Amino acid sequence: MAAHNLAVILKNPQNDTEFLLTEQTPPAKFGEEEYDSYVDSDLWDLPSTQLNSLEAESESGIVFEAVELCPPKINLKKFDFELALNRVLGHAGLGAGDAGEWRFWKYVEEPEFGPGLPLNTIFIMGKLVSADQNLPEQCKWMSIWSCQTLLLDVKPNNSRIGLLVVVGLISDSMQSTTWKVPSTLQYQEYPPGVVLVPLHSRTAKPFHTTNLIIFARENVSDECEGSGFVTCGDALIVDPGCHPQSSGELKKIISALPRKLVVFVTHHHGDHVDGLSIIQKCNPDATLLAHENTMRRIGKDDWSLGYTSVSGSEQICIGGQTLRVIFAPGHTDGHVGLLHVKTHSLIVGDHCVGQGSAVLDSTSGGNMSDYFQSTYRFMELSPHVLIPMHGRVNMWPKHMLCGYLKNRRSREASILKAIENGAQTLFEIVADVYSNVDRSFWIPAASNVRLHMDHLAQQDKLPKVILFMA
Ligand SMILES: [Zn+2]
Ligand SMILES: [Zn+2]
Repeated sequence: MAAHNLAVILKNPQNDTEFLLTEQTPPAKFGEEEYDSYVDSDLWDLPSTQLNSLEAESESGIVFEAVELCPPKINLKKFDFELALNRVLGHAGLGAGDAGEWRFWKYVEEPEFGPGLPLNTIFIMGKLVSADQNLPEQCKWMSIWSCQTLLLDVKPNNSRIGLLVVVGLISDSMQSTTWKVPSTLQYQEYPPGVVLVPLHSRTAKPFHTTNLIIFARENVSDECEGSGFVTCGDALIVDPGCHPQSSGELKKIISALPRKLVVFVTHHHGDHVDGLSIIQKCNPDATLLAHENTMRRIGKDDWSLGYTSVSGSEQICIGGQTLRVIFAPGHTDGHVGLLHVKTHSLIVGDHCVGQGSAVLDSTSGGNMSDYFQSTYRFMELSPHVLIPMHGRVNMWPKHMLCGYLKNRRSREASILKAIENGAQTLFEIVADVYSNVDRSFWIPAASNVRLHMDHLAQQDKLPKVILFMA
């Protein structure tokens, strides 16, 4: 089962190398000055929309060429292309009769990021009928070459190019990876050179997988030497947290990657390090990078070899490309993120998840003040895309991070309100703040409330009588 999306590659009738991109609508503003002052840069992508299934097969008015390229498991007659195409063209200021010569281009399956169904995309290609069509403001023609430049030579706050352009058009024309992802694995490469493979892991609901992130470039590692890098390699993997049952998949990946391998772990939780022992077996020459607070919580059974300690701001060189370590405590006290400088992609560990809110681990130094500071540190980097270890990549990083701040601040306001209303014990506060949540959730919620209270106390916002209790 999957949900479907239609993406349209509309060629410029005056210049065959260009196609139409539309400016993507950002998520709604918060209506609060602080949060709305953090603005993500413009995002351009192929026009697309949801593609609904039809109850029964129908002979649509749209005729596609090259349908033989469509995989047999997809029955094009079972989708409402007319409705979807009208919607897509309408958004680009065009009518149904303004474009034609439709052909099937590509079917791209989304890997199992979860939660919910994967979103698979049918790409079709067509042309404008009239050459002198005026484009509305939210549309522009771009070539693959200019998209590649924006994707691979990123300046913070520049316009950004979205996922559909990359998976629909660019990945075929670019040799961005010099290694082959084993063909049995589902993966997503966005931005070019950043490969995400969701592997089954012992993670918390609603997720089932941890994203293994892989960088592997041409073998030009000599360029790195003596340039202030903490380590150099030909390939890097981040958070090998796969379930022991998925170890076969991890083995395949490790054996396909160059031997000079760097392994980076964002923090010590099992769903991020369970695969370390497999790597150690398959490639004992691999270099492990982690924060020392993370390393002392990783068992000898998982990793008995040496490691390199990182504490933030170190640089790693992978095949001539730089990744910067960002100290980001909050989820745990040894939590670190990673910025791929060339594409300005930010790997955030468990600081954020693809959907819903992230939990802080108070038993491993999780701390709300640190969490807030790390969130601001991430926002100041102006990442072009945010990569969590659970769920899909997020294309509106500053908006997502502000959403986390807003939610946590509103929780703190409810805690203060509960105290004002007479709640005096941790249990009473939890019972008030989470009154409309199932009681089974109250125990983990209590640890979250305590972290918030520590944060409030640090800001001198807690009444004295409560301070004793906290
Ligand atoms: Zn975690
Ligand atoms: Zn996790």
